[in-house]
Amino acid sequence: MFEWGDDRRFNSYSRYFRETMGGRVQKVAINAGFSCPNRDGTISTGGCSFCNNDAFTPSYCQPSKNITTQIDEGIEFHARRYRKAEKYLAYFQSFSNTHAPLETLKEIYNQALTHPRIAGIVVGTRPDCVDEAKLDWLADVARNHYVAVEYGIESTFDTTLQAVNRGHDFATARRAVEMTAARGLHTGGHFILGFPGETDEMLLAQTATINEMPLTTVKFHQLQLFKNTALADEWARTPERFVFRGMDEYIDFFIEILRRLRPSLVVERFAGEAPPRHRVGGDWGLVRNEELAARLDRRLTQLNVRQGDLFH
Ligand code: SF4
Repeated sequence: MFEWGDDRRFNSYSRYFRETMGGRVQKVAINAGFSCPNRDGTISTGGCSFCNNDAFTPSYCQPSKNITTQIDEGIEFHARRYRKAEKYLAYFQSFSNTHAPLETLKEIYNQALTHPRIAGIVVGTRPDCVDEAKLDWLADVARNHYVAVEYGIESTFDTTLQAVNRGHDFATARRAVEMTAARGLHTGGHFILGFPGETDEMLLAQTATINEMPLTTVKFHQLQLFKNTALADEWARTPERFVFRGMDEYIDFFIEILRRLRPSLVVERFAGEAPPRHRVGGDWGLVRNEELAARLDRRLTQLNVRQGDLFH
């Protein structure tokens, strides 16, 4: 039996930071003004059918402000809202944060890395926006800082990736994860559970594919629909193709995924908290991530199961 050293029944992000960074860590979201190849015409102009970046971008996080200001304001925001963190990471979250020449990336990331209160960076990007040179530079930075690269993978099924106009296939995601992990970088993957056409059996089977990738952390979200997206239009036309679970029902389904998940995979998130004003379709109301994690842990205890107890 895999043991994590405390009584949580899943391998939590807070525990991972206690172990890797020696204390409580807070990510401060930064919008560095990057674009996305699936929006700026490099691949397409339509973007992924589910994407509305505004729904995930905190209000303090505007590209018109320089990175130092965004970090200062982000730290102040979190210090007011949560218990004081011991360390902060600059989280480059919006759009595709490696979609620029390496020299531009160096200039941007060095602004964050030289901030006195920043211990490292978390770089959110697409799997088709990295190459050997960019990853080599990040690996170099990682000698003295915490560095994680988080990939939007979304689904392991090419039929789904095509249907949502993702603009890359799963093999591209697998390759990017392998290249990143091979350099010793912390490597994250983001998945959305339950696109139209994906059955419960497919989502459970997908867990084995996720387990095989050399990921450090995973984030899952239930399918949420955002206003002014192609997926919301699709739902309006063909609502019968969409399944929205209530919160308790989703937690029970996610537990089946969690039980099959490799115990060493750190679960950063299993459901979302986008503001209701951006959403259409299924809606859980306003619920905070801490509350979601507590509900998950309570239900795991009630059922007496844990992450990885069905992992082979
Ligand atoms: S989800 Fe990411 S990759 Fe897709 S359009 Fe939005 S920013 Fe671009």
